[in-house]
Amino acid sequence: MRIILFGSPGVGKGTQAKILSSEYDIPHISTGDILRKAVREKTELGLKAGQIMERGELVPDELMIGLIKETLNSDPCHNGFILDGFPRTTVQAMALDKLFSELGINDVILIHLTADEEEIVSRLSNRRACKECGTIFNIKEIEGLSNCPKCNALNSFYQRNDDTEEVIRHRIKIYNTETKPVLGYYEKNGKAIAIDGLGSIPEVNEEIKKALEKRNVIG
Ligand code: AMP
Repeated sequence: MRIILFGSPGVGKGTQAKILSSEYDIPHISTGDILRKAVREKTELGLKAGQIMERGELVPDELMIGLIKETLNSDPCHNGFILDGFPRTTVQAMALDKLFSELGINDVILIHLTADEEEIVSRLSNRRACKECGTIFNIKEIEGLSNCPKCNALNSFYQRNDDTEEVIRHRIKIYNTETKPVLGYYEKNGKAIAIDGLGSIPEVNEEIKKALEKRNVIG
């Protein structure tokens, strides 16, 4: 299975990618997670990306393309991958296409998760994550809890720096201007499938799997 999960920030790409990744034992490649780890570890990439990410802007294409080339060339990705957060510009989409043809890959499907903008703002403002296991929660799910329901870590919930309303609106604006045009690139080649991202997590997961079955990506 080689898929790109595409859609606005907060539409649920990461959540769906994690589920598919564990169901099919395929690596989940989240460029946002890779960058956040680099920022935490203060690597060269992290130092370059940290402030850009806090402003909700895009990290330069050449850095992102280098990172994705290295990742997709690594062993765990040889039998498949779920890309989450890449490509985010048409320059990245073109570089990815070139990389796929170098690697002899021609079966990539893009899943476009769709959602209304106001719903996205509300979802992201109420989003919290566990800094130990990375699980994402709605603030209501963890109300009054001190321990993470997934990994039991104590006092590990946090709000991402880029999940404040002002930065969220900026990220959505950038999505609409820089990232959305990428869709045309895949639609033109009949490689994009649109799925309503506003259902419950299991419903969206089922819809994705139905669509992948139709395309014979899964049996
Ligand atoms: P995400 O977790 O996917 O929402 O990504 C968080 C932030 O990481 C984004 O707002 C960008 O600043 C940066 N980022 C992640 N993926 C990319 C990408 N493909 N191109 C540029 N910046 C990215």
